[in-house]
Amino acid sequence: MSQRFSTLLLGTVALAAGLAVSSCNTEKASASETENPAAAAEAMSGAAATAAEEKAATPADVTTTAPDPSSIPASAVGNAAAILARPQVPILCYHQIRDWRAKDSKGAKDYIVPVEKFKEQIKMLADSGYHTILPDQLYAYLTTGAKLPSKPVMLTFDDTDLDQFTVAKPTLDKYGFKAVYFIMTVSLGRPNYMSKAQVKQLSDEGNVIGSHTWDHHNVKKYQGQDWVTQIEKPTKTLEEITGKDIKYFAYPFGLWNPEAIPQLKQRGMVAAFVLAEKRDQQDPLFTIRRIIASGYWSPKTLHNSMVQSFDGK
Ligand SMILES: [Zn+2]
Repeated sequence: MSQRFSTLLLGTVALAAGLAVSSCNTEKASASETENPAAAAEAMSGAAATAAEEKAATPADVTTTAPDPSSIPASAVGNAAAILARPQVPILCYHQIRDWRAKDSKGAKDYIVPVEKFKEQIKMLADSGYHTILPDQLYAYLTTGAKLPSKPVMLTFDDTDLDQFTVAKPTLDKYGFKAVYFIMTVSLGRPNYMSKAQVKQLSDEGNVIGSHTWDHHNVKKYQGQDWVTQIEKPTKTLEEITGKDIKYFAYPFGLWNPEAIPQLKQRGMVAAFVLAEKRDQQDPLFTIRRIIASGYWSPKTLHNSMVQSFDGK
């Protein structure tokens, strides 16, 4: 049963990889086309030089100080045009953090970041003076223009993979970085996935837990009871585990449609995350962009991709 499930899930992940490869490749191609190693190196060393001062000026717990979205009066929330006009914060999406295996396909390697490569990517962010922010801070910034720390970045992890806890978390801890974990609840406690206790620990330590459905079905195909199975019940499960409200959602495969947005709002979500495509002009808070930090990317390519993908769209 569990073997069959893993096979099914691998199929789903492979499908996701296949679907997203073209957009991912576009990102990658455009990043390397304009790659200018000298400029990138200069930008990064300049940032590194000021990183120490910034660290001193920024309280370690700055990520916990954002207001809850429910406490922000509707009258203070900007309209879609105002939200779209604010500079985007770079948001990275990770899946598996582990070394490549012989059977990993070319496409899957965008979704599997080898351990050393992951450490290099995160070190680059820290050395360049980036500060991780969490969704409440992003929400306050996008809706009211609330201030963010300098060089903000958001780190997100999808699909509940165990290595996010055993490999990624210790690396992030080293730099005082916090992240968002979008959990697919069907996987909790299964081999190679996180347990409920691990998810609770992430939450207790100041990371944010978000929903990534029950079993990763495409939101565009939901009807009737699917909203209960895929959104309502998993949200309740995650709220029981963490003791906190679950307010943020990541669409499986990054796929969404306009019908999904009111359904998500009804079930307590205040924002939702897609992948690299354009934001919706009517509902930018429910189509917040992320890029997949590829397993092929050097720290420099990651940096170029962040700058390019989130600049002026
Ligand atoms: Zn996913």
